Amino acid sequence: MDHAQTRPHVQDLWTSSILPALRDYIRIPNQSPFFDPAWEAHGHMERAVTLARDWAAARNLKGAQIDILRLPGRTPVLLIEVAGTRPGNVMLYGHLDKQPPFEGWREGLGPWTPVDRDGRLYGRGAADDGYAVFASVAAIEALQRQNVPHPRLCVLIECSEESGSPDLPSHIEAHAARIGVPDLVICLDSGCGDYNRMWTTTSLRGLVVGDLRVDVLHEGVHSGDASGIVPSSFRILRQLLARLEDAATGRILPDALHVAVPPGRVAEAERSAAVLGPDTFARFPWVPGMQAVATDTKELMLNRTWRPALAITAQQGMPNLESGGNVLRPFTTLRLSLRIPPTLDAETATRTAKHLLESDPPYGAKITFKADKASPGWEAPPTAPWLAEASEAASRSYFGNPPCAMGEGGSIPFMAMLGARFPKTQFLITGVLGPESNAHGPNEFLHVATGVNLSCCVAEVIARLPG
Ligand SMILES: [Zn+2]
Repeated sequence: MDHAQTRPHVQDLWTSSILPALRDYIRIPNQSPFFDPAWEAHGHMERAVTLARDWAAARNLKGAQIDILRLPGRTPVLLIEVAGTRPGNVMLYGHLDKQPPFEGWREGLGPWTPVDRDGRLYGRGAADDGYAVFASVAAIEALQRQNVPHPRLCVLIECSEESGSPDLPSHIEAHAARIGVPDLVICLDSGCGDYNRMWTTTSLRGLVVGDLRVDVLHEGVHSGDASGIVPSSFRILRQLLARLEDAATGRILPDALHVAVPPGRVAEAERSAAVLGPDTFARFPWVPGMQAVATDTKELMLNRTWRPALAITAQQGMPNLESGGNVLRPFTTLRLSLRIPPTLDAETATRTAKHLLESDPPYGAKITFKADKASPGWEAPPTAPWLAEASEAASRSYFGNPPCAMGEGGSIPFMAMLGARFPKTQFLITGVLGPESNAHGPNEFLHVATGVNLSCCVAEVIARLPG
């Protein structure tokens, strides 16, 4: 490809067409079905997928067939199939469903209000992961504009990723013949360590989510009457959590929830830690005086990517501060979000957690751990030499720096599905979720220059697919 042509074309497309479309997209509150069970009746997902479909259709890609795939009761999938002008098959993946708004958006910002500020487009879901369909089409358009022969391209955009992709397997089954066997999967839903290079993701953690409930009474009673006699459900929860996690260090205790980190990944963490420097995690919105669990950046990188870790993400059974009286409450439920190592079997990890939490109930309390379907993690297969060279060339051309590889702490369930289904497939997993971009939290933004650069890099890598 001719870099001198690619960049201005892609840049212009972003400015004149992609950013306006993304601003419209941000205005649509199309939360993932887990967060909006009535998504179908609300119609937001339909508006979002139609917006993307209409935009893509208006680009008039040569040899493109664009369909919204539908199955009863399931979220749709947008499929953009572009006939190849040479051999090869590439899948480009992204998603259009969004996380819920969360609290804490700064003055003037909001989840459903697009705001352009300092080269960033603020609002829910543009970076995670609405931009993916637009960036993919921009890359294809750049290839076609320059008449660069390209393989068959299949852009697959789902609408249930933030719920663990429950609707995707059925679509994949129904359209397996159309999708075929990809030589390369490009996923634009991941993170980046900084905005100065293309970051490739070499692993993703798995995720076990479940609600841990402790019942001690049929109804709440006067805490002055009962405390000292009836064990508090919260204290029992603390005991149960202590089986799972060392409260002093955050280390997850059962050996069965750890794996031996492959030496190559340790070396990779060391390299990325060196690129990012000691202040890399200063990007979190720490309160004054607050420190990380360790000082060694490499160890923090490994904690974040290859070691299990627990977050408590929701509760039930506890009134808000305004309405809480002196009551010994009948039950407490905590939602446990346990990240697990990339190569640990997620179903086994769920069973391990359930057994650990439910066995030997303190005081005979009623304890239930109700787990959702676990999301498996993923580790990249060894990178083919051509892909390493293509990534190197792309990142140097458009970011002016060599690329860097690292694991990510989050999960993309579909990558595990694809990895199991297509063991010979190569993966380029990358994304715009860099410092402060805050997907899932407040003040999410899309770093626009990175979106432009990545679109160019995608075109460059596709151009270099052998065959
Ligand atoms: Zn995402």
